Amino acid sequence: MFLGLDDTDSPDGMCTTYLGALVAEALEMQGCIIKNMRLIRLNPNVPWKTRGNAAVCIEFEGGAEIASQTAERFIDKYAMFDCLNTNPGFVVCETKPAPDFYYSALRGFCTVDEAKAVLDSIGAIYKGYKNCRGLIGALAAVSAELPDKTYEYLAYRKPDAFGTPRVFDADSFRKSAEETFPHCFDTWDFAAEKPVCIPHGKDPVLFGIRGESREWVEKAVSYLQSEEVERFVIWETNQGTDAHILSPTSGFEEGRSYVFDGVVTSAPKTQRGGHVSFSVGGVVCYAFEPTKSFRNIVRELIEGDCLTVFGSFQKGVIHVEKFCLRKAAKKEVRASPRCPVCGGRMTSAGKGKGYKCRECSGRIRDTEAASRGIAEGWYEVPPDARRHLSKPVCRIQNDS
Ligand code: ATP
Repeated sequence: MFLGLDDTDSPDGMCTTYLGALVAEALEMQGCIIKNMRLIRLNPNVPWKTRGNAAVCIEFEGGAEIASQTAERFIDKYAMFDCLNTNPGFVVCETKPAPDFYYSALRGFCTVDEAKAVLDSIGAIYKGYKNCRGLIGALAAVSAELPDKTYEYLAYRKPDAFGTPRVFDADSFRKSAEETFPHCFDTWDFAAEKPVCIPHGKDPVLFGIRGESREWVEKAVSYLQSEEVERFVIWETNQGTDAHILSPTSGFEEGRSYVFDGVVTSAPKTQRGGHVSFSVGGVVCYAFEPTKSFRNIVRELIEGDCLTVFGSFQKGVIHVEKFCLRKAAKKEVRASPRCPVCGGRMTSAGKGKGYKCRECSGRIRDTEAASRGIAEGWYEVPPDARRHLSKPVCRIQNDS
């Protein structure tokens, strides 16, 4: 049996995964056997999401009636009905539906009527509340197939701690990241020296450790020291897999995410607000201000660079998530570079021999390194600006 749940939370509290954890516990107490817990991320560009557009699926052995009554009881008790944007839904079905609806909700947009048509055609039990939008995520979650998957160990706070500052030992989180990276990722941001895996809002999540297997996330958690954890679930997820990415076979459509190759046709420019824009094969791309240090890397690109770009298409421009500099263009060096030792002006050391300093013994042997501030390879936005679905560069490098 499969039970899908979505759209129960609001920015003021709750979290659909927490509700999923409570429902699973209640099902177990009624004699059901929990087989798997899945946390499924859907199109990150839907405007009515609360945070990360997540839905959950509980796979279990037991009765459909028990499942629907339990889901109803917990939604009635915990869902944030007062929030305009909270429109819960649950679905219960005996067999897993075909994955088509999942792919539409992951990569495009769906309507409640489309969800109901599929649910009716497979004889599912379902209930939508208010505008019923939660049925879309609930159906997508039970229909999901995961050719690539990762795991997230979500630890939840004791209810009396909800809304208070989270108590944790930052050093233990850093140590956990050092010991388990790249098998676990997004635990600690080593550039900013801060945890990535601890949310800041009023929701029940204390931390979420992401990794390649159940064993790796359990190992990472074994290092952590924090306030008391009330409960935890190890979720199987499509996070960090690039499952949302399409190839632009017939152009770019609003609200979808793409990968494409191209040559930089206009060099990066810093716009008002600190956003950095550039063009790849005539397509306007942006590294927006929240991507912080990523913009400094983007500013190093020059016309002629060959790139593979990943990003979502919104309001006519690509919001860059990551890129690979496949082939760096040669930069014409007009002024001779500054010496890396004393900062003085350098002169050519002869054709193809790099530069030597006029003031001291400093030398740059590689003429390319002297002219470009970026090497060929992968670059991505910092972890706290990354989409949940985006495959981190450490996973791409693990593949090769
Ligand atoms: P959280 O991650 O904290 O649980 P959220 O960011 O998942 O919150 P929701 O509250 O679930 O946000 O709101 C997203 C809403 O959008 C849900 O009702 C879901 O069914 C719907 N939805 C998800 N994907 C699509 C899609 N591709 N097209 C149309 N609606 C969608």
